[in-house]
Order: sequence, then structure tokens, then C-alpha cells
Amino acid sequence: MPRTPGSDADVIVVGAGPAGSTAATYLARAGLDVLLLEKSTFPRAKVCGDGFTPRGMKQIIDLGIDCTERNGWLHNRGLRVLGGGVSLELDWPDLATFPNFGAVRPRQDFDELLARTAQQAGARLQEQTSVTEAVADERTGRVTGVKASIGKGKEKREVSYRAPLTLACDGVSARVALSLGMNKRDDRPMGVAVRRYYTSPRTEDDYLESHLELWDRKDPSDPKLLPGYGWIFGMGDGTSNVGLGILSTSRAYGSTDYRALLKSWLDGTPEEWGYRDENAVGAVGGAALPMGFNRTPHYRPGLLLVGDSGGMVNPFNGEGIAYAMESASVASACAIQSLARSGSAAEHALRNYPIAMQQALGSYYRIGNLFSRAIGNPTIMRVATRHGLPRKTLMVFLLKLLANLYDPKDGDTFDRVITAMTRVTPSVR
Ligand SMILES: Cc1cc2nc3c(=O)[nH]c(=O)nc-3n(C[C@H](O)[C@H](O)[C@H](O)COP(=O)(O)OP(=O)(O)OC[C@H]3O[C@@H](n4cnc5c(N)ncnc54)[C@H](O)[C@@H]3O)c2cc1C
Repeated sequence: MPRTPGSDADVIVVGAGPAGSTAATYLARAGLDVLLLEKSTFPRAKVCGDGFTPRGMKQIIDLGIDCTERNGWLHNRGLRVLGGGVSLELDWPDLATFPNFGAVRPRQDFDELLARTAQQAGARLQEQTSVTEAVADERTGRVTGVKASIGKGKEKREVSYRAPLTLACDGVSARVALSLGMNKRDDRPMGVAVRRYYTSPRTEDDYLESHLELWDRKDPSDPKLLPGYGWIFGMGDGTSNVGLGILSTSRAYGSTDYRALLKSWLDGTPEEWGYRDENAVGAVGGAALPMGFNRTPHYRPGLLLVGDSGGMVNPFNGEGIAYAMESASVASACAIQSLARSGSAAEHALRNYPIAMQQALGSYYRIGNLFSRAIGNPTIMRVATRHGLPRKTLMVFLLKLLANLYDPKDGDTFDRVITAMTRVTPSVR
């Protein structure tokens, strides 16, 4: 039962992806009545690379989910980076804050696991409920709930739900934020990524593989460098998840046929890897990656933007699951404090959410936004790859920086350099 009279829940969470299910779990564990609205029905597919760095694994461990290989996770020990004719295997760093392993797990399976975790905690998951807009108080502008349509076809009906707080966890589509005129910011980077599964002998791999140069080798006498960068993640189930991404800072962004680009790259990879149409499992899927806090403010009265809806993807490496879950953890902590108070004290706790996110990621994302602008220029990217990759020490540092894997306190020299960089850089707002 909601604590607030006249409400349908204490908190409405829109979207049961990593952000929504994580937030719903923490909120329900704190004894709040949580209505988790999801437009699809589990299990459902989600276009993703299915890759988890140690930063993502930390969130899963924090939630109390068994992340052993026995429970369906395929662990990896680091990142293999290819470019400029060099291939380098970099192990995940040994840190106090994060585990020393990453993993792969299909989103089809992972997202359901998270949603069931939220249900077990007591959240009321309502599938086939597509939220169409936020409802705001005409006088104050405060968000008081959402409108949604339930079911399909002739069975479809319109409903509305009220709660003192709504968490928009509806991903890059950001339906809730858009209904309030909260548009994405064009001064922040965006990515587009496509992926496909292929049956491949490379399905077992101890490393996530990242290709910094994509070559079209259809004509071996005239190889062409393609825009963007790619990944090959062995899924351990006979397939690989193979994909590529392009940043909005690249000239090719928006004018590229991403599916054709994926094919050109893969046609140039060794035949024995198997990345050819006849070995494809399912279609090519693609979606946008909202980066570097590209939708702000993250709070307006009655509403918090969490995960992709708030543009939380790391602009250095395109990782989004860890940040969706981290922002969900911060948002739920603020919500729990707020809902135990009233009046301006309750508001104070909610206003702390964007401040806490800025403190956690704001400076790092400002550097990441500049980085994405620099590497959007293919010449800079090529020079960096040629001169950077052969230098292992530099690459160890870059792995820490790009994957946001360092100890702010008590770390090594690299950790201290990254900590100092983030201290002197003002936060994005
Ligand atoms: C091709 C590609 C590859 C990627 N690879 C990786 C990777 O390997 N590792 C990584 O960490 N990140 C990766 N990302 C990024 C990652 O997928 C996202 O950052 C992450 O899913 C964000 O989580 P979220 O919960 O904020 O949003 P989502 O995962 O998008 O979840 C949103 C949820 O809300 C639901 N929803 C949407 N609209 C409504 C509505 N109106 N009403 C009700 N429900 C709604 C959706 O059905 C969904 O369940 C990749 C992205 C792409 C596009």
C-alpha cells in the first residue's frame, strides 16, 4: 500500500531496463510501494553488445545477484585492443572499488533477471504498459504521475497513475522527459551502434575485443579505413556478438548506412571467424547511445531522469549498463530519503540527485565529451592508435581512464593522475 493517500504507489518507475529494475529493487527493499511499468513482456530482446566491464559487475554484486559462471555469466579477464597492426591484451586492473573481472550475458536474459529481482524485492511489475506522457500539476508544474496504455489491439485501454515521485527509466526514447519538453542537448555527444549475432568458433574468449580501426578489405589491393570502431564479444554459447559504433562528433554520423558498414567491415575479417551472412543468428539491430549527460536537468519537481533517459552513457567507451545502474542506485537513495520527509525537506533530498550525479561523474564526463570530440576526427584517431597502441604502459593508463576503473583513494600513480584530472575539471551540468 502506498504511504501517500490518493496515490497509486509511492514511486512510479517507468521502464524495466537496468536503470528501472535496479531502482525498483532498492526502493522496494526500503519498504516503498513501487509500481514498475514496462511496455514489453519479459523475456524480451534488447539491442546491446552484452558486455560488462568490472564497473557493471560491481553494480550486480551490490544488488546481491549471484554473478558466478554457475549462474549464467561468462567471465572475462580484460580487453583486447586491435589497431595500427597491433593487438594488445590488457587485464582489468586490480582495485579496491571494483572486481577484477568483467562478463558477457545476453540482455534478453539479464534484463529479465533484473526485473525478477525487483519483483522479489516487492516491486509491482506491470508489463505491456506503455507510458505515453507525464502528468504535471497545472498550477505548480510538479509531476504527479503518468498516463499509459495497457495491452494490445482491441484490448488496449488508457489509464493514469498518480505518485509523489516518478523515475523516468525509459531509455533513449525518453518518452516521459520529451512529453515535458525536456529535449536532448546537442552540445553533448551521441553514438549510434549496430550489432548482430553470428555462430563462430571465436565464441569462447577470455577478453572483450575492441577494434579501433575498421577496414573494408573487399579489394585487398585497396583496403579502405571505415569510420567508427567495433567489438567482437564471444558469448560462450556458440555465437559472438559483433557490432560497431559511430560518434556524433564524426563526419560520417547521420550519413552512414550502419548495417552496410557492419557488413563491409565483417566481410574483411578472416573467413574462418565466421562473420558472414550465412552464419548470422537474427537480424542486425541498432540504437542510439545518449552520452555525457545529454539530457538535463536530471531533476524537476516530482521527476528524476535515470540511465539512458538522462544521457548517462560513458562518452569514452559507450558503456551504459553500469551507469544506468549507478544512477538508479543514487536516485533511489535520494528518493528513499525524500519519501521519509515532508515539505521542503523532502524536496531538498530530491534536489540532491543531480548534484550527487555531477559529483560522481560530472568532471569525468566533461573530459569524456572533449575526448569524443577529438576522436571524432579520423586523423587524430589514426595518429593516436598508431602511436598509442604499441606503448603498453600508456594503454594500461588509457584502459583505466576509458573504462573509468580507478581508485580515487589509495590507488596507483595512474589512479592518482586520473583523480587529479577529474578534480581540476569542472563538472558538466
Ligand atoms: C548496439 C548497442 C550496443 C551496446 N552495448 C553495450 C555494452 O556492451 N555494454 C554496456 O554497458 N552498454 C551497452 N550499450 C548501452 C546500453 O544498452 C544502455 O546504456 C542501457 O541499456 C541503458 O539502460 P536503461 O535502463 O537506461 O535503458 P534501457 O535498457 O533502454 O531500458 C529502458 C526500458 O524502458 C522500457 N520503455 C521504454 N519506453 C517505455 C514507455 N514509454 N513505457 C514503458 N516502458 C518503456 C523499455 O522497453 C526498456 O525495458 C549498447 C547500446 C547499443 C545501442
